[in-house]
Amino acid sequence: MENNIKDKVIAITGASSGMGEAAAKHLSQLGATVVLGARRSDRTEKLAKEIRGNGGKALAIAADVTKRDQVKNLVDSAVKEFGRIDVILNNAGIMPLSPMERLNVNEWDKMIDVNIKGVLNGIAAALPYMKEQKSGQIINTSSVAGHKIFNGSAVYSATKFAVRALTEGLRMEVKPYNIRTTIVCPGAVKTELLEHITEADIQQANKDYVGAVGISPESFARVVAFAISQPDDVDINEVIFRPTSQE
Ligand code: NDP
Repeated sequence: MENNIKDKVIAITGASSGMGEAAAKHLSQLGATVVLGARRSDRTEKLAKEIRGNGGKALAIAADVTKRDQVKNLVDSAVKEFGRIDVILNNAGIMPLSPMERLNVNEWDKMIDVNIKGVLNGIAAALPYMKEQKSGQIINTSSVAGHKIFNGSAVYSATKFAVRALTEGLRMEVKPYNIRTTIVCPGAVKTELLEHITEADIQQANKDYVGAVGISPESFARVVAFAISQPDDVDINEVIFRPTSQE
Protein backbone atom coordinates (compact mmCIF):
# COMPACT_ATOMS: atom_id res chain seq x y z
CA MET A 1 0.00 0.00 0.00
CA GLU A 2 1.25 3.51 -0.81
CA ASN A 3 1.96 5.64 2.27
CA ASN A 4 -0.27 8.51 1.06
CA ILE A 5 2.69 10.82 1.70
CA LYS A 6 4.84 10.06 -1.33
CA ASP A 7 4.73 12.83 -3.96
CA LYS A 8 2.56 15.07 -1.79
CA VAL A 9 3.51 18.75 -1.77
CA ILE A 10 3.75 19.87 1.86
CA ALA A 11 4.37 23.45 3.02
CA ILE A 12 5.73 23.80 6.55
CA THR A 13 5.97 27.00 8.55
CA GLY A 14 8.57 27.17 11.31
CA ALA A 15 10.75 24.75 9.34
CA SER A 16 14.04 26.33 10.40
CA SER A 17 14.36 24.47 13.71
CA GLY A 18 12.83 22.05 16.18
CA MET A 19 9.71 20.19 15.23
CA GLY A 20 9.19 21.84 11.84
CA GLU A 21 12.70 20.89 10.77
CA ALA A 22 12.24 17.32 12.03
CA ALA A 23 8.91 17.04 10.18
CA ALA A 24 10.49 18.31 6.96
CA LYS A 25 13.25 15.71 7.10
CA HIS A 26 10.93 12.84 8.00
CA LEU A 27 8.28 13.66 5.41
CA SER A 28 10.87 14.07 2.68
CA GLN A 29 12.32 10.69 3.60
CA LEU A 30 8.81 9.30 3.09
CA GLY A 31 8.74 10.78 -0.41
CA ALA A 32 7.03 14.14 0.09
CA THR A 33 8.11 17.35 -1.59
CA VAL A 34 8.62 19.90 1.18
CA VAL A 35 8.40 23.68 0.95
CA LEU A 36 10.14 25.19 3.93
CA GLY A 37 9.06 28.52 5.43
CA ALA A 38 10.67 30.54 8.23
CA ARG A 39 12.30 33.92 8.75
CA ARG A 40 15.82 32.48 9.09
CA SER A 41 16.12 31.51 5.45
CA ASP A 42 19.82 30.69 5.84
CA ARG A 43 18.65 27.73 7.90
CA THR A 44 15.86 26.64 5.57
CA GLU A 45 18.14 27.01 2.52
CA LYS A 46 20.68 24.74 4.24
CA LEU A 47 17.99 22.22 5.12
CA ALA A 48 16.57 22.24 1.59
CA LYS A 49 20.04 21.64 0.22
CA GLU A 50 20.56 18.75 2.63
CA ILE A 51 17.22 17.18 1.64
CA ARG A 52 17.99 17.57 -2.08
CA GLY A 53 21.45 16.09 -1.43
CA ASN A 54 19.70 13.02 -0.02
CA GLY A 55 17.61 12.67 -3.18
CA GLY A 56 14.52 14.50 -1.90
CA LYS A 57 12.65 17.50 -3.25
CA ALA A 58 12.70 20.71 -1.23
CA LEU A 59 12.36 24.44 -1.69
CA ALA A 60 13.07 27.16 0.89
CA ILE A 61 11.02 30.36 0.95
CA ALA A 62 11.54 33.18 3.45
CA ALA A 63 8.24 33.72 5.24
CA ASP A 64 7.32 35.61 8.39
CA VAL A 65 3.95 34.13 9.35
CA THR A 66 2.75 37.45 10.75
CA LYS A 67 2.91 38.87 7.21
CA ARG A 68 -0.06 37.61 5.22
CA ASP A 69 1.56 38.32 1.86
CA GLN A 70 4.69 36.34 2.79
CA VAL A 71 2.67 33.28 3.82
CA LYS A 72 0.66 33.59 0.61
CA ASN A 73 3.94 33.71 -1.29
CA LEU A 74 5.09 30.52 0.47
CA VAL A 75 2.02 28.61 -0.71
CA ASP A 76 1.90 30.29 -4.13
CA SER A 77 5.55 29.29 -4.63
CA ALA A 78 4.77 25.67 -3.76
CA VAL A 79 2.01 25.61 -6.36
CA LYS A 80 4.07 27.45 -8.96
CA GLU A 81 7.05 25.13 -8.55
CA PHE A 82 5.33 21.80 -7.92
CA GLY A 83 1.80 22.23 -9.33
CA ARG A 84 -0.28 21.81 -6.18
CA ILE A 85 -0.45 22.08 -2.40
CA ASP A 86 -1.54 18.92 -0.61
CA VAL A 87 -0.73 19.79 3.00
CA ILE A 88 0.06 22.91 4.96
CA LEU A 89 1.62 22.38 8.39
CA ASN A 90 1.06 25.61 10.31
CA ASN A 91 3.72 24.99 12.89
CA ALA A 92 5.53 28.30 13.53
CA GLY A 93 5.11 29.46 17.10
CA ILE A 94 6.68 31.26 20.03
CA MET A 95 6.33 30.75 23.77
CA PRO A 96 7.64 33.67 25.83
CA LEU A 97 5.99 32.48 29.04
CA SER A 98 5.49 34.83 31.99
CA PRO A 99 2.96 35.53 34.71
CA MET A 100 0.37 38.03 33.47
CA GLU A 101 0.99 40.35 36.41
CA ARG A 102 4.47 41.10 35.02
CA LEU A 103 2.68 42.80 32.14
CA ASN A 104 4.91 41.74 29.27
CA VAL A 105 2.27 43.15 26.97
CA ASN A 106 4.48 43.24 23.87
CA GLU A 107 5.04 39.51 24.24
CA TRP A 108 1.29 38.96 24.55
CA ASP A 109 0.87 40.77 21.23
CA LYS A 110 3.66 38.77 19.59
CA MET A 111 2.16 35.46 20.69
CA ILE A 112 -1.21 36.46 19.30
CA ASP A 113 0.41 37.58 16.04
CA VAL A 114 2.56 34.47 15.49
CA ASN A 115 0.54 31.70 17.12
CA ILE A 116 -2.98 32.74 16.07
CA LYS A 117 -2.73 35.16 13.15
CA GLY A 118 0.15 33.14 11.70
CA VAL A 119 -2.04 30.04 11.56
CA LEU A 120 -4.91 32.04 10.06
CA ASN A 121 -2.54 33.41 7.41
CA GLY A 122 -1.55 29.84 6.52
CA ILE A 123 -5.16 28.77 6.23
CA ALA A 124 -6.01 31.79 4.08
CA ALA A 125 -3.09 31.04 1.77
CA ALA A 126 -3.82 27.34 1.25
CA LEU A 127 -7.60 27.14 1.35
CA PRO A 128 -8.40 28.59 -2.10
CA TYR A 129 -6.08 26.04 -3.78
CA MET A 130 -7.41 23.14 -1.72
CA LYS A 131 -11.02 24.09 -2.49
CA GLU A 132 -10.16 24.17 -6.17
CA GLN A 133 -8.30 20.84 -5.97
CA LYS A 134 -11.10 19.36 -3.86
CA SER A 135 -8.45 17.83 -1.66
CA GLY A 136 -5.94 18.86 0.96
CA GLN A 137 -5.01 18.73 4.61
CA ILE A 138 -4.47 21.59 7.05
CA ILE A 139 -2.43 20.59 10.10
CA ASN A 140 -2.08 23.10 12.92
CA THR A 141 0.30 22.84 15.86
CA SER A 142 -1.42 23.47 19.18
CA SER A 143 -0.05 22.06 22.45
CA VAL A 144 -0.83 20.21 25.64
CA ALA A 145 -0.96 23.84 26.82
CA GLY A 146 -3.92 24.18 24.45
CA HIS A 147 -5.79 21.80 26.75
CA LYS A 148 -4.66 22.95 30.17
CA ILE A 149 -3.17 26.07 31.67
CA PHE A 150 0.15 25.99 33.50
CA ASN A 151 1.55 28.62 35.85
CA GLY A 152 2.78 31.41 33.55
CA SER A 153 1.14 30.03 30.40
CA ALA A 154 -2.10 32.04 30.39
CA VAL A 155 -1.53 33.96 27.15
CA TYR A 156 0.39 31.16 25.42
CA SER A 157 -2.35 28.71 26.38
CA ALA A 158 -4.99 31.14 25.13
CA THR A 159 -3.30 31.18 21.72
CA LYS A 160 -3.09 27.38 21.63
CA PHE A 161 -6.72 27.00 22.74
CA ALA A 162 -7.52 29.35 19.86
CA VAL A 163 -5.65 27.14 17.40
CA ARG A 164 -7.81 24.21 18.45
CA ALA A 165 -11.02 26.25 18.17
CA LEU A 166 -10.31 27.60 14.73
CA THR A 167 -9.15 24.23 13.41
CA GLU A 168 -12.28 22.47 14.65
CA GLY A 169 -14.45 25.22 13.17
CA LEU A 170 -12.63 24.89 9.88
CA ARG A 171 -13.03 21.10 9.92
CA MET A 172 -16.80 21.43 9.94
CA GLU A 173 -16.81 23.96 7.10
CA VAL A 174 -14.53 22.27 4.58
CA LYS A 175 -16.27 18.91 4.22
CA PRO A 176 -17.67 19.78 0.77
CA TYR A 177 -14.12 20.18 -0.48
CA ASN A 178 -12.71 16.90 0.84
CA ILE A 179 -10.22 18.78 3.02
CA ARG A 180 -8.91 17.16 6.19
CA THR A 181 -7.93 19.16 9.28
CA THR A 182 -5.65 17.97 12.06
CA ILE A 183 -4.65 19.50 15.38
CA VAL A 184 -1.37 18.27 16.83
CA CYS A 185 -0.83 18.89 20.55
CA PRO A 186 2.70 18.09 21.69
CA GLY A 187 3.87 17.98 25.29
CA ALA A 188 7.45 18.79 26.29
CA VAL A 189 9.75 18.46 23.28
CA LYS A 190 13.41 19.48 23.27
CA THR A 191 13.73 22.37 20.80
CA GLU A 192 14.82 26.02 20.76
CA LEU A 193 11.40 27.17 21.98
CA LEU A 194 12.54 28.07 25.51
CA GLU A 195 15.36 30.32 24.27
CA HIS A 196 12.93 33.20 23.73
CA ILE A 197 11.57 33.30 27.28
CA THR A 198 12.75 36.67 28.61
CA GLU A 199 11.99 36.12 32.30
CA ALA A 200 15.12 34.42 33.70
CA ASP A 201 13.38 32.52 36.51
CA ILE A 202 10.64 31.20 34.21
CA GLN A 203 13.15 30.25 31.54
CA GLN A 204 15.29 28.33 34.03
CA ALA A 205 12.32 26.47 35.51
CA ASN A 206 11.17 25.43 32.04
CA LYS A 207 14.67 24.46 30.94
CA ASP A 208 15.03 22.29 34.03
CA TYR A 209 11.68 20.63 33.35
CA VAL A 210 12.03 20.08 29.61
CA GLY A 211 15.66 19.06 30.08
CA ALA A 212 14.49 16.35 32.46
CA VAL A 213 11.40 14.99 30.67
CA GLY A 214 11.50 16.37 27.10
CA ILE A 215 11.42 14.06 24.10
CA SER A 216 12.92 14.51 20.64
CA PRO A 217 11.27 16.51 17.83
CA GLU A 218 11.10 13.33 15.76
CA SER A 219 8.14 12.35 17.98
CA PHE A 220 6.22 15.20 16.35
CA ALA A 221 7.40 14.25 12.88
CA ARG A 222 6.05 10.72 13.31
CA VAL A 223 2.65 12.01 14.50
CA VAL A 224 2.36 14.35 11.51
CA ALA A 225 3.30 11.51 9.15
CA PHE A 226 0.71 9.27 10.82
CA ALA A 227 -2.04 11.86 10.23
CA ILE A 228 -1.11 12.43 6.59
CA SER A 229 -0.63 8.74 5.82
CA GLN A 230 -4.23 7.77 6.56
CA PRO A 231 -6.45 6.95 3.59
CA ASP A 232 -8.17 10.06 2.18
CA ASP A 233 -11.50 9.15 3.80
CA VAL A 234 -9.94 9.09 7.27
CA ASP A 235 -9.31 12.39 9.02
CA ILE A 236 -7.21 12.32 12.18
CA ASN A 237 -8.80 15.34 13.84
CA GLU A 238 -6.50 15.70 16.82
CA VAL A 239 -3.51 14.00 18.38
CA ILE A 240 -2.21 14.76 21.86
CA PHE A 241 1.13 13.27 22.75
CA ARG A 242 3.63 13.90 25.51
CA PRO A 243 6.63 12.34 27.19
CA THR A 244 5.61 9.25 29.11
CA SER A 245 7.01 10.90 32.23
CA GLN A 246 5.19 14.23 31.77
CA GLU A 247 2.30 14.98 34.15
P1 NDP B 1 11.49 26.21 17.81
O1 NDP B 1 11.74 27.49 18.51
O2 NDP B 1 12.61 25.25 17.64
O3 NDP B 1 10.83 26.47 16.39
C1 NDP B 1 9.92 27.51 16.19
C2 NDP B 1 9.81 27.79 14.71
O4 NDP B 1 8.84 28.83 14.52
C3 NDP B 1 11.12 28.24 14.09
O5 NDP B 1 11.32 27.57 12.88
C4 NDP B 1 10.90 29.73 13.87
O6 NDP B 1 11.57 30.15 12.66
C5 NDP B 1 9.40 29.77 13.65
N1 NDP B 1 8.86 31.11 13.86
C6 NDP B 1 8.81 31.83 15.00
N2 NDP B 1 8.30 33.04 14.74
C7 NDP B 1 8.03 33.09 13.40
C8 NDP B 1 7.50 34.07 12.52
N3 NDP B 1 7.12 35.28 12.93
N4 NDP B 1 7.38 33.75 11.22
C9 NDP B 1 7.77 32.54 10.77
N5 NDP B 1 8.27 31.57 11.53
C10 NDP B 1 8.40 31.86 12.85
O7 NDP B 1 10.31 25.52 18.64
P2 NDP B 1 9.39 24.23 18.40
O8 NDP B 1 9.87 23.41 17.29
O9 NDP B 1 9.23 23.61 19.73
O10 NDP B 1 8.00 24.92 18.03
C11 NDP B 1 7.17 24.54 16.96
C12 NDP B 1 5.73 24.65 17.39
O11 NDP B 1 5.44 23.69 18.40
C13 NDP B 1 5.32 25.98 17.99
O12 NDP B 1 4.05 26.34 17.50
C14 NDP B 1 5.24 25.70 19.48
O13 NDP B 1 4.36 26.58 20.14
C15 NDP B 1 4.72 24.28 19.46
N6 NDP B 1 4.90 23.48 20.66
C16 NDP B 1 6.17 23.21 21.14
C17 NDP B 1 6.32 22.40 22.25
C18 NDP B 1 7.66 22.07 22.81
O14 NDP B 1 7.74 21.52 23.93
N7 NDP B 1 8.77 22.31 22.12
C19 NDP B 1 5.16 21.83 22.93
C20 NDP B 1 3.90 22.14 22.32
C21 NDP B 1 3.80 22.93 21.23
P3 NDP B 1 12.31 31.56 12.45
O15 NDP B 1 12.73 32.05 13.81
O16 NDP B 1 13.48 31.19 11.57
O17 NDP B 1 11.34 32.41 11.76
